Amino acid sequence: MRDENCIFCKIANGEIPSRTLYEDNDFRVILDLAPATKGHALILPKNHYKNLYEIEEETAAKVMPLAKKMAVEITQKLGGDGFNLMQNNNEIAGQTVFHFHMHLIPRYNNDNQNLVMKPQQATDEELDAVREAIVGNGK
Ligand code: AMP
Ligand code: ZN
Repeated sequence: MRDENCIFCKIANGEIPSRTLYEDNDFRVILDLAPATKGHALILPKNHYKNLYEIEEETAAKVMPLAKKMAVEITQKLGGDGFNLMQNNNEIAGQTVFHFHMHLIPRYNNDNQNLVMKPQQATDEELDAVREAIVGNGK
């Protein structure tokens, strides 16, 4: 379950060195080379899945407990004030490396980062129509 041309496959499986924070049978957690903040890290599954659409549920189910464990540890060790989890899928959503990864982004008061989304207006009718499109009628 590896892609020979994928850099994160090579990093996750130790063929390319990385600054590893944690490793087990399924994952490697590494420092991001271009950190948004101090301690910005990435959870990489050792198997290749392009993104959230393709990751198998069994692996996906292990990501959040690991994210929590790393968030607590990183925040304690680096003295952070908050934390963002970010996970991008496809180019429009900002994905640049097409091997599933979860960003672990410690936040610090006055860190000058801006990861905040831009809220849009929506009418009740629009929200109802979206809900119906997703879950159907009568649920
Ligand atoms: P995304 O834009 O969600 O696909 O995130 C890709 C992330 O991988 C970016 O934050 C990059 O800085 C990071 N990155 C790319 N190549 C490497 C690498 N060789 N080692 C560590 N982080 C990397
Ligand atoms: Zn890969």
